[in-house]
Amino acid sequence: MSEKKPFEIARETLKQLTTQKLAPTPANYQAIYNEIAGVPLVVPFPAETLRDIAKALPVKTPGQQKQRGLLDYAIDRLNWDGVKTALVAYGSFPPLTADEGAPTTAPAKMGLNATAPALTTEFLGQMGRLIEYTQPALGTDDERFSELSKNLTSALRQSGSDVVVLKTMLVNYSDRVSFVAEDQAEIKKTLLKLLHMLFENIGEISLDEQWLKGQMDALMTAATPPLTLRRLDDVERRLKDVIFKQKDAKEHAVQAQHEMRQMLAAFIDRLSDMAKSTGNFHEKLEENARQIEQAKTLAEIAPVLKEVISATRAMATQSKESGAELQTMRDRANQTDAELVKLHQELDRVSTQARHDPLTGALNRKGLEEAVEREISSVRRKDTPLCMSLLDIDNFKKLNDTLGHATGDVALTHLATVARECMRPQDTLARYGGEEFVILLPDTPLEKGIEAMTRLQRELTKKFFLAGSEKVLITFSAGVAQLAPDETGADAIKRADKAMYLAKRAGKNRVLAA
Ligand code: GH3
Ligand code: MG
Ligand code: MG
Repeated sequence: MSEKKPFEIARETLKQLTTQKLAPTPANYQAIYNEIAGVPLVVPFPAETLRDIAKALPVKTPGQQKQRGLLDYAIDRLNWDGVKTALVAYGSFPPLTADEGAPTTAPAKMGLNATAPALTTEFLGQMGRLIEYTQPALGTDDERFSELSKNLTSALRQSGSDVVVLKTMLVNYSDRVSFVAEDQAEIKKTLLKLLHMLFENIGEISLDEQWLKGQMDALMTAATPPLTLRRLDDVERRLKDVIFKQKDAKEHAVQAQHEMRQMLAAFIDRLSDMAKSTGNFHEKLEENARQIEQAKTLAEIAPVLKEVISATRAMATQSKESGAELQTMRDRANQTDAELVKLHQELDRVSTQARHDPLTGALNRKGLEEAVEREISSVRRKDTPLCMSLLDIDNFKKLNDTLGHATGDVALTHLATVARECMRPQDTLARYGGEEFVILLPDTPLEKGIEAMTRLQRELTKKFFLAGSEKVLITFSAGVAQLAPDETGADAIKRADKAMYLAKRAGKNRVLAA
């Protein structure tokens, strides 16, 4: 330590600053002063200034937040090394693509919006939506998975999320998705198997219920993969019909049973009355017979005979009344029986005819009528176009003649299957007549309707059907009409029919606008 007095050191310091030509800054003054005074130079730690800087740093991402925390920690401990590390890490997040394999705690990180234009907020938001929309398909049974997807969705939607963190979340999510999706597929398969077993079993135990069998067949078909909402919807409507009729039939059956029981009770009462009265009648007659035997004069017989006549008359009247009553009962029983038979016939009819064509599974005329009504009111409400197409298979008679009617049937089923495969779920296929089909295309303008039918033509050339080993190509001619304002469904189909006819005249295998 120097022996000099502070003012002497100060004077000497000013002198040195001048001779060394140093700028008279507080730092230079301090350095020279300390040197002259023999005091080691300790630069004070600028904690407050650093804190100001730290506060000014943006903390938009979890990564930035973490480094900001580390910076605060280093400032509190007056640790220059810590400050340096935190600042370097803060300013150097790696670009997204150069980040493969980097640990989440690595200092090399970079804000998303700064240098990763490929991953825009919109893109990440879209990914978030994708994950959110996929969620219902994967079920809600797995709570951990639901939580994971919720967190990931919200992280993807938050602007400026840390890429590295997002990546880790995505990796976890996709691992989990693969398990959940496998589970869901397995659950669906097992449920379908159970349903089939159930349907088979119901079919087996209700041999005498013809209408039930029709329903079971329909359900079996509907529950065969690939499942489509349209098919399930068809079956649901069909089942509702039958359930309604079934309820009606059951109520009638219960009522009939009740009436029968009452009639039987009345009949037994009447029978015992009759037995009693005939018993009395016999006793009376025997008594009268004895009196007649013992009678010595006609005068003695006359009152006995009177008694016999009146007893016989009473008996005859009673018998007649009972007979009439029994006849009424029999009539009522027959009537109830006939009603029940009629109800069962109706049930059979509803069940088997329903709204579907049993050969192709497409809607039948009745089903089509309802579908047209439904679609028209829907498109009129939404103010969107509706196309109706009518197709007729080309030279079908010839196909029947050469390959047989049974093969013709398979060809019809094949066309319906291909049509269903290449149509959208909201489109409707109906068998209009023998080898004529109507397709309803909602939210479809005319040119798109024609495109859709042309696509079906192309599909049929790709997916020809095999009659034994022979490849059979099915072609059709079609007319497409877009429903006009105020036009009825039937009129639009008529127009499509005319256009189909023109397509036939023009050489077949073509689609024409109505
Ligand atoms: P075009 O190209 O002019 O339509 O000729 P086409 O031979 O198809 O003539 P048309 O439409 O008049 O004949 C339809 C034939 O389809 C007649 C009928 O025997 C047959 N057909 C109708 N319904 C069925 C069915 O359910 N199964 C089978 N196999 N054939 C059917
Ligand atoms: Mg025809
Ligand atoms: Mg034809």
